[in-house]
Amino acid sequence: MITGEQKPIDEIREMIAPYKRILVLGCASCVAECAAGGEKETAMLASTLRIAAKMKGEDVLIEEKTLDRQCVRDFVILLDDIIEKYDAVLSLGCGAGVQAVAEMFTEVPIIPAINTEFLGETRDQGYWLESCLGCGDCMLHHFGGICPVARCSKQLFNGPCGGAMDGRCEINPDVECAWHLIVDRLTKFGALDRLENIYPPKDWSKKQGGGPRKIVREDQQK
Ligand code: SF4
Ligand code: SF4
Repeated sequence: MITGEQKPIDEIREMIAPYKRILVLGCASCVAECAAGGEKETAMLASTLRIAAKMKGEDVLIEEKTLDRQCVRDFVILLDDIIEKYDAVLSLGCGAGVQAVAEMFTEVPIIPAINTEFLGETRDQGYWLESCLGCGDCMLHHFGGICPVARCSKQLFNGPCGGAMDGRCEINPDVECAWHLIVDRLTKFGALDRLENIYPPKDWSKKQGGGPRKIVREDQQK
């Protein structure tokens, strides 16, 4: 999923200051899972903004709505009937959601309330870990399901650097050494010999060398 964290309230207040009728727009997908922009967080942010406006004697309308997915046009279109009521949308979607709404409703400013961060997994309650950089050429099968692109601080593909200590990365003892994990995992299923292969430098053109990437699948089109 895509993770993010809400921006500081003062920054949000500053961004919405020019507007009088604001729709606070949540997204019930990834940003709900990471407790940043789902229905609950959207209601809480809208309420906080209403209280702050009231305390400052500001005359603003702040309402809220949460879409199932802000990055899918079939859901964004549901704003069609209500968007005219507002002079700005404060989006708690990820960067893709914000842009999807902006693309469909070009007359209304769309303001991001979230700092979009990384592709990751929920490790525990309140703990999300980056695990994929979307490199466009997945290599996880070589490395026991642990990604050296996202999880080795130096993005090494041919074994660890010399800095690991007790399974921790030299950049920070809070960070697990990805290569320690890879060796452990491959040892468990008897595949350590995979590391005798020499992995060439990665072809980064599959990441973003050609501008924004797209996937077009005719079998999925109407
Ligand atoms: S190899 Fe690439 S696609 Fe696979 S998990 Fe790592 S960054 Fe993501
Ligand atoms: S200590 Fe491990 S994770 Fe950190 S840079 Fe070296 S090999 Fe990569």
